[in-house]
Amino acid sequence: MNQSNTHCLMCARVALLLQEDGHPFLIHKFQHSVFVVGDHQFFRGYCMLLFKEHIRELHELEPIVHSALFTELMIAGRAIADTFQPWKMNYSCYGNVVPHIHWHLFPRYDSDPDRQQVPWHHADKFEKHMIDEAAAQHLATQIRSNLILSQS
Ligand SMILES: [Zn+2]
Repeated sequence: MNQSNTHCLMCARVALLLQEDGHPFLIHKFQHSVFVVGDHQFFRGYCMLLFKEHIRELHELEPIVHSALFTELMIAGRAIADTFQPWKMNYSCYGNVVPHIHWHLFPRYDSDPDRQQVPWHHADKFEKHMIDEAAAQHLATQIRSNLILSQS
């Protein structure tokens, strides 16, 4: 445990979130991951789940860890769905740019005419929907109130 990489942006972000209990973007610290509000809200309720260790591939995890991480992902996804009642949840895990396991959780809405496309279809608009700390804290509080942690 506690593997980290000093050159990794995701490791730095995880370290900051783990240090600060009241970080405005923090929703919840799970055993294996950290659940945070996304930096942009083009899709209202967009969040990320960051694995705590610097590991690149899901298949490199011990079986007991990947099943626990999947449970954490499902708890996070359900909380977003219960908060925003989306048409569909999208779960993305790539790591091509930052080689550290992280998930993007995108609620998709009926109102999106391109909802059958991947979320990245709108990536050029994300920057215009960056949120400040107050907005992040508000969303984090809303989503946290819908976390059902009994299965973790
Ligand atoms: Zn890392």
